[in-house]
Amino acid sequence: MKCISYVRFALLDRIADNTNRLLIDGHRTASASGGTFQTLNPATGEVLATVAEAGVADIDAAVRSSRAAFEGAWSHMRASERGALLLKLADLIRRDEDELVRLESLDSGKPVSAIRRQDLPAVLDTLTYYAGMADKISGQVIPARPDALTYTVREPLGVVGAIIPWNFPLMIGMWKIAPALACGCTVVLKPAEVTPLTALKIGELALEAGLPAGVLNVVPGFGKVAGQALVDHPDVDKVTFTGSPVVGRQILQGAAGNLKRVTLELGGKSANIISSDADIDAAVKAAGSGIFFNTGQVCSAGSRILAHESVYDEVVERLAARAKSTRIGDPLDASTAMGPVVSEVQMQRVLNYIDIGRNEGASIVTGGARRGDAGYFVEPTVFAGVRHEMRISQEEIFGPVAAVIPFKDDEDAIRIANGTVYSLAAGVWTGDIARAHRFTKKLKAGTVWVNTYGPTDIRLPWGGSRDSGFGREHGDAAIDNFTEPKAVWINTGR
Ligand code: NAP
Ligand code: MG
Repeated sequence: MKCISYVRFALLDRIADNTNRLLIDGHRTASASGGTFQTLNPATGEVLATVAEAGVADIDAAVRSSRAAFEGAWSHMRASERGALLLKLADLIRRDEDELVRLESLDSGKPVSAIRRQDLPAVLDTLTYYAGMADKISGQVIPARPDALTYTVREPLGVVGAIIPWNFPLMIGMWKIAPALACGCTVVLKPAEVTPLTALKIGELALEAGLPAGVLNVVPGFGKVAGQALVDHPDVDKVTFTGSPVVGRQILQGAAGNLKRVTLELGGKSANIISSDADIDAAVKAAGSGIFFNTGQVCSAGSRILAHESVYDEVVERLAARAKSTRIGDPLDASTAMGPVVSEVQMQRVLNYIDIGRNEGASIVTGGARRGDAGYFVEPTVFAGVRHEMRISQEEIFGPVAAVIPFKDDEDAIRIANGTVYSLAAGVWTGDIARAHRFTKKLKAGTVWVNTYGPTDIRLPWGGSRDSGFGREHGDAAIDNFTEPKAVWINTGR
């Protein structure tokens, strides 16, 4: 086993020596233009690494490489061998867990404790789940006519462009890579410009695991250039995207060129409803982590806490107490619960929303400001007196800002919960099973949690509708995303 100091040394060395090049066709290459960009450590605001910047020519090279791998080595392999390679990749991720955890933390500001507890186990679970599925993807014999044998086979779509955000770079990356590769597709992965480092490391480990060159190419760069080039590329068959609704709409337009398949996992403004008969202790605890986990940078964050008017004051008070006691600090410190937001741009966006809430007449019970002047820390903030029409109740802030909204009765709660442009997730807390069922039926959301908030599992479909996007990831749904049925007729005569 490697000792921690060696891992730390290797990591710093790797960051300092500028090796963060593109990963195309099995090689670490500079970009065609020679361009680079810097990624920062959001806990300090200091430069962490210089990274090669993929341009249009690099995306084209990556797509050509992934096409060749798709037509060649990858399609000639047994499905069980593909699965075995994914399991090998999982082994290597376990071997290099310390390095991956630190790299993800340094690049994104996520606390190491959270990455170890949540992100890394989810990455491994995703890989092993889809590794096991690789050789269980099958068609059907459908007896349509007496004069023919008619059946379907499920074929991989081809080259997949995967574009991911910065809030869960490892985990969301794997949500896309693992099922796509299990299905026999090849992938060009474009990580977010502010968190490119762990994607490159995963690409390297994939090569070490024995995945043929080109099966997984990793091309950090800017969304408007590299991301757009991937979306526009005529030889990409599918784009799987997680990010904002604004970019989601641009992706749909770009994908129209060659009618690519598209899956969009976009934002949310999820309601976490606390009924008068709820276990208030448990509800407030979960409501706190529902909005403050990952510094609120979670698509399914419970950013609107709807509390029945009879328990409203108690919920506000207890939630504020939780916010105040949150351990904010150095993400590398194992006792830190909340790190910075990911970038200065994001910090300004969150602070701006806090001003908007103040100006709209909501009251700040706790928080409401930047913490310190180094790094991009924002205090966990609780707004009370929030009305449904306010912008802080309608728009996604993507930061540690809770809007607590009172409601009169269940119908009122449903009306408020469903009253945004988003439909990703919702939570409800109640001791009444019939009421819980009424809520799950009426809430517009891809996931509804009852007496819990926030868990996801790779076996369950994940995604939303309206401005939260369309399509589902995870489970069998992901297999449908990356394959297509082919109908075969064999004329047998009567
Ligand atoms: P974003 O600005 O939409 O960026 C997401 C990715 O798209 C990044 O890699 C970005 O690259 C790239 N991109 C930007 N413009 C592009 C273009 N014109 N063509 C192709 N790609 C482009 O979102 P974000 O700010 O990173 O992430 C936050 C958003 O993601 C939030 O709205 C959040 O709710 C959503 N999200 C949703 C889920 C879900 O499962 N539903 C999960 C996590 C996050 P650059 O960063 O290099 O510009
Ligand atoms: Mg960074």
